[in-house]
Amino acid sequence: MAHPDRKRLIIGNWKMNLPASRAVPYLRELLPLLPGRSDDREIAVAPAYTSLPAVAAALAGSTVRLAAQDLAFEAEGPYTGEVSGEMLRDLGVTYVLVGHSERRQHLGETDLMVARKVKAALLSDLAPVLCVGEQEAARRSGREASVVRAQLLRAIEDVPRGAASALVVSYEPVWAIGTGRSATPEDAEEMQDLIRGELERRFGEEARGIRILYGGSVTPGNIDSFMGRAGIDGALIGTSSLKATEFARIASFRTHS
Ligand code: PEP
Repeated sequence: MAHPDRKRLIIGNWKMNLPASRAVPYLRELLPLLPGRSDDREIAVAPAYTSLPAVAAALAGSTVRLAAQDLAFEAEGPYTGEVSGEMLRDLGVTYVLVGHSERRQHLGETDLMVARKVKAALLSDLAPVLCVGEQEAARRSGREASVVRAQLLRAIEDVPRGAASALVVSYEPVWAIGTGRSATPEDAEEMQDLIRGELERRFGEEARGIRILYGGSVTPGNIDSFMGRAGIDGALIGTSSLKATEFARIASFRTHS
């Protein structure tokens, strides 16, 4: 059962896949397969920047939301190659991923940059989807809780009270991303509980509206077991979001409890 204050959220992170020429045929296949209008879930796709305008046009008239994979930490100025929150907002973007582990690992994104991006997204009226998660070595040595807590607290340091309910957090253990080896729903929920406790300490009542997702090798075969957990408010999907039939099945998740 979902929490009454939080609509479940499923986001497909296309990463550096599906250029506009392939994204549009993909959406033509996907949209008719998705569940109809419903009050209990929200679906979003996160294409690469260059595909955003074509995807926005293809989604017109559907309930599927547009997400971006990153944004600049400044609002405007001399930042060659960067894309601001306002630019994304102009294209109809609702959600923006921030601090995905691939950006932390391969593109030098630091906790400070992540914190600035969270703030920049909120200032642009975008909902940041803050990604946090431990490396495999941290889990093996039992440090996953302290790693995730530290990432989370640094990222939300500058979020003012009153702006927090737009925030989404995605718990994504790095060892589960793209590996076919997901966390167990029990482990994921345990981490969600820890994250929720920290959010409540920081934001009080306002934290009730913050959704906490799980990401890491979610597939059509395991989505229902994650969504059957009351503490898991949705999922971030990489690999399985690239096949329309798989993503449609994930978006049509059923809850058991
Ligand atoms: C991701 O990149 O956010 C992700 C969860 O990837 P995958 O579903 O492939 O593990």
